[in-house]
Amino acid sequence: MARKIGSRYTVHQVIGRGSAGTVWLGEGPDGPVAVKLLREDLATDQVLVGRFVQERAALTSLDHPRVVGVRDMVVDGADLALVMELVHGTDLRSRLEREGVLAPQAAASVIADVADGLAAAHAAGIVHRDVKPENVMLDLAAPPGPGGAPRAKLTDFGIARLVDAPRRTRATRIIGTPDYLAPEIIEGLEPRAAVDIYALATVLYELLAGFTPFGGGHTGAVLRRHVTESVPPVPGLPDGLWRIISECLAKAPAARLRAAELAERLREQLPGLAGLPPLAPAAASGEPVPPVEEVLTPGEAVYAEVDTGTGAHRRRRGPAVPLVPAPAPDSTRDTHTSLRRPSPQELAGYAAESRAQRAAPAAHRGGRKALLRRRRQLAVLVAVVLLLAGAVAAFAAFASGGHSHALRPPRAPLAAVGLPAGPSAPR
Ligand code: ADP
Ligand code: MG
Repeated sequence: MARKIGSRYTVHQVIGRGSAGTVWLGEGPDGPVAVKLLREDLATDQVLVGRFVQERAALTSLDHPRVVGVRDMVVDGADLALVMELVHGTDLRSRLEREGVLAPQAAASVIADVADGLAAAHAAGIVHRDVKPENVMLDLAAPPGPGGAPRAKLTDFGIARLVDAPRRTRATRIIGTPDYLAPEIIEGLEPRAAVDIYALATVLYELLAGFTPFGGGHTGAVLRRHVTESVPPVPGLPDGLWRIISECLAKAPAARLRAAELAERLREQLPGLAGLPPLAPAAASGEPVPPVEEVLTPGEAVYAEVDTGTGAHRRRRGPAVPLVPAPAPDSTRDTHTSLRRPSPQELAGYAAESRAQRAAPAAHRGGRKALLRRRRQLAVLVAVVLLLAGAVAAFAAFASGGHSHALRPPRAPLAAVGLPAGPSAPR
């Protein structure tokens, strides 16, 4: 099924789904391209469309082999699309889920590539703000790097900034993905280049250890760990890599390496890492990582609030080469476009909660299950009461002579939920 995007591009088939929209395989005047069609709620947001146009020059001019190039940005009726260089490969998250942790040399090589891409962006004054494995593409068509590691390219530049329009993100809100959020963002500072370094070091840690240093459990607890906890050591990690990681995960942004320094330091390590096997996957440090459903606590409604439209925080991704089914959604690894910044008191509260969780994880989860059960019972009760009230109202209307109303199809409610007038292409 072909579909035209603007006057210059045609898309043929979906090759991936993300939180911001759907990625299609397409054709442009200069050959094949990847076209990211933004979600309808984003595409119809006038503030966002304005920003999209404003950012066009900055984003399309970022041309570097370690960055997935944005060739064009199209605003066409209800379509808002990013036309990108087509990468023949997969994203780093899918690779990690399919094959597990990387050998130290491969991990260092992949991260050095991404650091090169970041260095170019930072030099152009562009901060990425959402560096994570989902946004690193592995170019499987390019000749491999040191130790057979695939070459990596960073993608989704500017998307975080695009959705960070003033109306979407008030001063007390932050955007980003909790596991990778630098402490200064949580404390309310303007995100600068160093936030990307922190996020990238988190990705390096994850590639080696199989989990992020501060992730797991409740979003509030994750944010609190970024601000207050030191990085848990990874058993068996070579010293050189450990020093680089801990420098880049420094709480003070100014103490972190710059992107070009990070790339250089990692490349210095490469010869010494040759032949080392992947580290044995260790259990995540201390805190259990309960399934999403079980991390509800009384503070949940505040911290897990993700304001991206219907179901947007449910990850729906697929690799460019669809080899594995999509993983279960994980709320702390999705891009949160509206996450309330906690106050220092609240962060301290989460510290206490997290300590209690460490001390008695099973009992704690049992308590949460009970809480969840009570909430479900309450929800069912409310639904039954509402249904009864509706039935009584309908009967009253009917009895008072409104026969014709009762028989008429319910037009207004349909229009209110914005059902399309006819069939339209999936987004
Ligand atoms: P989002 O950032 O909105 O969550 P992504 O950028 O991660 O979406 O895109 C979703 C999927 O589409 C990716 O996991 C990847 O498999 C595929 N994809 C994205 N960009 C490209 C590209 N330039 N070339 C090939 N495939 C791509
Ligand atoms: Mg992405």
